[in-house]
Amino acid sequence: MKAGIYPDERVIKVDNYALGEFRTCPRKFQHRIEQNLVPGGFMADPHSVKIPDAPLLFGIAIHKALDAMFMQESLDIAQEEFLEAYQPVPEDARRTPGRGLRLLEAYWKRWRDDDKAYDTVTSELYFEFELGSMPVYGESWTVVYGGLVDKILSIYDLKDGESSPRLLCMDHKTSTWESQYLVPSFQLSNQFIGYVWATQQIPEYAQCNDFIVDVLLISPKNDSFFRSELNMSQEIIDEWKRGIIVTCQQILSMHRDEFFPMYGKDACTSWNRLCPYFDICGASHGFRDTVQNTQYSKLVWDTSDR
Ligand code: SF4
Repeated sequence: MKAGIYPDERVIKVDNYALGEFRTCPRKFQHRIEQNLVPGGFMADPHSVKIPDAPLLFGIAIHKALDAMFMQESLDIAQEEFLEAYQPVPEDARRTPGRGLRLLEAYWKRWRDDDKAYDTVTSELYFEFELGSMPVYGESWTVVYGGLVDKILSIYDLKDGESSPRLLCMDHKTSTWESQYLVPSFQLSNQFIGYVWATQQIPEYAQCNDFIVDVLLISPKNDSFFRSELNMSQEIIDEWKRGIIVTCQQILSMHRDEFFPMYGKDACTSWNRLCPYFDICGASHGFRDTVQNTQYSKLVWDTSDR
């Protein structure tokens, strides 16, 4: 799914990434999702353009490996998948191919026995569903929400002496950020609530309310692994849906006014990284088009690319 605004059809297509860009800074959404800009035009400083982005590529390769591990129940196949997906190998002292292989081996040892309780129902479930419609300046617009659920698992629970199957979504997260706030913050993750909502739109998975966040914490010395199980009630899902609709109304009103505000400073340096559009925003008004045309190129954000 190509995220963006489709005025002829009165449709706005979003995923968690596109919404995250908008909620961080509307101007960022404009550059990335409306204009499809990414750093790397013909005049860009080659040292400032990191392609591929090591943390992103490492996370993608680990996801591919874990898909293989869950589906094929084999560490060797998972490691082969990792090496194949981690190409071209970026320059990153922390995320070397050897590091990825060791991480997978440690993960396998940590969870191999526990995971025997689960059946993997499906892996990499791509979705694109209509979420709702809303009025924007007297016209009815439809919101389409897309994404990719890592896994759906089933487990047998003992209830009143009888065992009954229960479905769960699972998402793997590789992280280098360790904090006492990490686990509590999952409860309010828009991404995870959206995955449960999307899973419920598929009739055979309609009963799925539970979610496991599977964290691979990459530390300088010892990697660690933990999981957190969340239950998404209907109340939580309804509030999430309302939040998406309101956010899309805001996006469309800025689109109509042809003005997306710059949130500036804190947004420009969130996660201690400089926003990739800083060169455009920081240029004088008359010079912004030149910066845009020479230091950026076009790449559509497509939810199904991972
Ligand atoms: S540089 Fe700052 S103001 Fe400009 S898009 Fe990025 S976050 Fe927004």
